[in-house]
Amino acid sequence: MSELYVSFPSYTDEALWLLVRGDQVWLDEGQLPTGNKAVLPSFDTEAPAINVGLWQGRTVLMVEWPDRNAEPERGAFSGLRPFMEQGQSQLFQLAGRGVQLANFFRTHRFCGQCGARMRVVQEELATHCDHCQHRCYPRISPSMIVAIKHGRQLLLGQSVRFKNGMYSTLAGFTEPGESMEDTVRREVMEEVGVTVKNIRYVCSQNWPFPHSMMVGFIADYDSGDIRVDPAELQDAAFFDIDALPPLPVEGTIARYLIEQALAEIRSSL
Ligand SMILES: [Zn+2]
Repeated sequence: MSELYVSFPSYTDEALWLLVRGDQVWLDEGQLPTGNKAVLPSFDTEAPAINVGLWQGRTVLMVEWPDRNAEPERGAFSGLRPFMEQGQSQLFQLAGRGVQLANFFRTHRFCGQCGARMRVVQEELATHCDHCQHRCYPRISPSMIVAIKHGRQLLLGQSVRFKNGMYSTLAGFTEPGESMEDTVRREVMEEVGVTVKNIRYVCSQNWPFPHSMMVGFIADYDSGDIRVDPAELQDAAFFDIDALPPLPVEGTIARYLIEQALAEIRSSL
């Protein structure tokens, strides 16, 4: 793996470090480390770092921990969700950027078109094949997420992945050829069998598990009876705004859309 990174100037004295292992970053006493390379635990130094941007005036260097099964001699790897749960949404985004880029470079070492080894294009954070000129950029997968209003009710679904009784907004990935609004209409029909109207954009959130761009909407219920796709949802129902089930945590776009939709409903009563 080290050939991929080898041509880059790597270490500065005052960098902020994203030492990535899978979807985790290394923390020293709960903080992302800053300083020169000596602040990191020891690891294969033939894997230099990639400059992935600036954070509060500091160069941010991302380097991947070489062995997923190995533990560092100090500090600890942590998932990203604690950043969000502690209200540190900007650090969540920054660490998510590092995790996504590490994943991209790890999975684009060879050209998908001709099979030759690719090199990193530092200034574009891309990989390039000098043999056939194929260039790859980090994959970002657009998906829609939508809060559906109906009178003084919200349509919420319980994913087959949820184990804690939580209900949330509906969501799904965009397919080739679709507009985001097409995705909203198709996914809502597939998951709960109803049609929606008045689809309007609210906000978006990058979600690094593994590389989603969640585009958030509010829509109005139009027609049809709820018919749940059992592959996606355990349940879906209309909930009165005063009798809501357990909801996603604050900081998620799902929760934000629900709060926005509730505010719209309350202001119209
Ligand atoms: Zn190629």
